[in-house]
Amino acid sequence: MSAVDLGMPSLPHAPRGVGHLRGDRSFPDAARESLRDGQLRANLGHATSTIRAKRKAVVDEVPDWAELREAGRAIKAATMARLDEHLVALEEQVTARGGTVHWARDAEEANEIVIRLVQATGTDEVVKVKSMATQEIGLNEALEAAGIAAHETDLAELIVQLGEDTPSHILVPAIHKNRAEIREIFLRTMPQFQEQGVDADLTDEPRRLAMAARAHLRERFLRARVAISGANFAVAETGTLAVVESEGNGRMCLTLPRTLITVMGIEKVVPTWRDLEVFLQLLPRSSTGERMNPYTSLWAGVTPGDGPQEFHLVLVDNGRTAVLADEVGRAALHCIRCSACLNVCPVYERAGGHAYGSVYPGPIGAVLSPQLTGVEDNASLPYASSLCGACYDVCPVAIDIPSILVHLRAEHVEAQERTTPEAVAFRALAKAMSTPRLWRLAQRAAGLGRLLSRGKPTLPAALPPPASKWTRTRDLPTPPRETFTQQWVRERGR
Ligand code: SF4
Repeated sequence: MSAVDLGMPSLPHAPRGVGHLRGDRSFPDAARESLRDGQLRANLGHATSTIRAKRKAVVDEVPDWAELREAGRAIKAATMARLDEHLVALEEQVTARGGTVHWARDAEEANEIVIRLVQATGTDEVVKVKSMATQEIGLNEALEAAGIAAHETDLAELIVQLGEDTPSHILVPAIHKNRAEIREIFLRTMPQFQEQGVDADLTDEPRRLAMAARAHLRERFLRARVAISGANFAVAETGTLAVVESEGNGRMCLTLPRTLITVMGIEKVVPTWRDLEVFLQLLPRSSTGERMNPYTSLWAGVTPGDGPQEFHLVLVDNGRTAVLADEVGRAALHCIRCSACLNVCPVYERAGGHAYGSVYPGPIGAVLSPQLTGVEDNASLPYASSLCGACYDVCPVAIDIPSILVHLRAEHVEAQERTTPEAVAFRALAKAMSTPRLWRLAQRAAGLGRLLSRGKPTLPAALPPPASKWTRTRDLPTPPRETFTQQWVRERGR
């Protein structure tokens, strides 16, 4: 029985009109367009197969990976069961070490808090460490509206920002761009190339592109008085925040500016350092295919004379408590954003991240976004999957994404007020399958399809409307010469 059945108010979802959890089109419409982009498919195919191979190699060398994975799952489940207590403990520890904790009910409140904190410093620009939470709440747009420039410092985020694009992958936001496209963006937008234009001495060699980005960013790192980050984990027992990254831009942002503001979803808390140890082993192997992250930055509160002298932690709900209330769906909050599920997903690899319309694409996005917004605001996403189960197999915290997808599909179907043709068809099928005489008649009728197939494995003709919606994108197999029941009777005589 749900809270609504008991007459209790339902928990709030992420509000509309702010942030990036809802697309302006359904998944099938957006995917149809991206499937026509051959360059996008080539870029994605190359990038995901490379990361897949790296991940597999480093995971296979860990003899107790299955046990480690189970430990990650168990820690997350136990943490979610007492999330309120861990968050209060985290607040006490951060405060005791000189930081300030702010609680934001949703994206609007979180943006307001951050804007107020930045304005209090008197600056009109900030540097940012790559953060899914700040993308989710649309922080950059809110800062811009308040006259504050936000400079992304992660290389891929920088490419996306300079290209006025949107991220399409959790870990590699510019995965849909190739080297030549990145060179063109840099030439067009970086001040150091403005005078030279297309004649600038910049090739699409990765090293040269990285050097151009470094020169562009270095000046901003040194100038910035405020940095904004996300957090991969927060250790409740000591109030320690953790950011893992590969480029060193995070370390610069977390240490150079005077003020540091960290925006974190409430599910990122872990109770103890021993728990953190498990995730620091699971995450790098699953995400970048590395044995450990090149940069792991850890800090607690402020240290006089060392690093930022003002630290604010903004804890964001934005629909997470509603997800937590769902016994099946809450496992989506266990996600450590490694992106392994994206890299193995056949749907993501073909449709690309933009088709999901949310900052969270791929299998995890298909279960997380609809829960944060309410299923009806993202109703097509639970269907953006073939349910092959590859996402579950690679997930380092064993989130059973296929089961959550099916659960959300059921929720969507139950919410429909109109009877759909699909519902009518399945009701008729249920009736036929539960009545032996009807079922035999249906099988005999289906056998007529053999005449139409003329010996081919699939029928050439599409079904008439409304069943044509089914056959438009699927082959209709030719019915077998003999049904299972007939074969059983023939072989066993009853
Ligand atoms: S659902 Fe699992 S595999 Fe996918 S991003 Fe989250 S932790 Fe990684």
